[in-house]
Amino acid sequence: MKILVVNAGSSSLKYQLFDMDTEAVLAKGNCERIGIDGMVTHKCPGKEDYKANADLKDHRAAITLVLKLLTDKMLGVIASVEEIDAVGHRVAHGGEMLRKSAVLGEDEIKYLESIVELNPLHGPPAISGFKACKEVMPNIKHVGVFDTSYYSDFEPKAYVYPIPYELYEEFKIRRYGFHGTSHRYVSGVAQELLKNKNAKIVTCHLGNGSSITATMNGKAIDTSMGFTPQDGVPMGTRSGALDPTVVPFIMKKKGLTAEEVEKLLNSKSGLLGVSGISSDCRDVETAANEGNERAKLALDILVHNVKKIVGSYVAEMNGIDALVFTAGIGENDRDLRAQVCKEMSYLGIEIDEEVNATCPRGEIADISKKGAKVKTLVIPTNEEYMIALDTKNLTK
Ligand code: ADP
Repeated sequence: MKILVVNAGSSSLKYQLFDMDTEAVLAKGNCERIGIDGMVTHKCPGKEDYKANADLKDHRAAITLVLKLLTDKMLGVIASVEEIDAVGHRVAHGGEMLRKSAVLGEDEIKYLESIVELNPLHGPPAISGFKACKEVMPNIKHVGVFDTSYYSDFEPKAYVYPIPYELYEEFKIRRYGFHGTSHRYVSGVAQELLKNKNAKIVTCHLGNGSSITATMNGKAIDTSMGFTPQDGVPMGTRSGALDPTVVPFIMKKKGLTAEEVEKLLNSKSGLLGVSGISSDCRDVETAANEGNERAKLALDILVHNVKKIVGSYVAEMNGIDALVFTAGIGENDRDLRAQVCKEMSYLGIEIDEEVNATCPRGEIADISKKGAKVKTLVIPTNEEYMIALDTKNLTK
């Protein structure tokens, strides 16, 4: 069974073609600068990478090019588009209604269109990506996999904000949580490694965007991102959680509009805002190692907040069996992992510094100290595989 996974952003369309009988990735790539000038990268194992400029005026042009590459005599991996059995679409927001991955029909799309206001950045491109794919592949099933759905079993105490309840009823202002597909994947792998479906697991997805999730008995019970992906720990350019009063205060002092302050908190804060150097953790670390105090402060704030949230989830679950690191920083940044796990022995979290410093990148690693009560694991995330798996299960 061949499944195409599509992740449409405002100016990009990433794809992976899976053979779900063997779970192999047959090809993957990215169409970038859609609506600007257009560029495509296409990779297949065993073949040379292909990179070229392309005329990509919209998502339809992008998916048409992807299908052309996948079926190309030289660059391709399938003989015809008919070999694709189903398409899985990454959708950031499923709102309150789309609580599980679902075959996308008219009702689902109408609902997604109705909640665009909750998801103005990622909603419209995901919908146009879906529509473009449906147009060029009308006879197969298209499945939506939502970042929010992992959190759909939350108890109200975890998702209702302590503001007038009518605001939740009227505008659906609540904690939704994001990165759910990644947290679902890595916590599932951790459960398997622990051979315990009921394990208490805290998963730290630390990348450009970062979030932390608590999973217990196979279900997420809390997560750090909220109404939007702005909440929680500081990120590359996002502030993470703040005293809410900071927002109107900045608006008054700087004479900013709502949109302007939102931009400030979204794209000028986090690691970039504090360090003044970069949103990229590697650049900030290099500067910190060279003695830049603000770069060091930016990293200290990140570590401090990750520890704080991990600790609060241990309290919520009355324990922890595994702490998991994933995504760009979590998988690769040994120093940051060591900082987070430092002085956590009270909670049973202790790592083997040597194993942490030498574990190979891109592989699952158990970095716990021998005899530690809690397993500390590095698990590379694989959201695309999760999307392909849900798509297979919903269409086979
Ligand atoms: P996104 O949220 O865009 O998917 P990623 O998960 O790819 O982002 O994470 C990007 C972040 O990972 C960047 O801050 C980058 O600096 C960091 N990162 C990647 N490799 C390393 C590394 N070897 N050491 C430290 N940080 C790294």
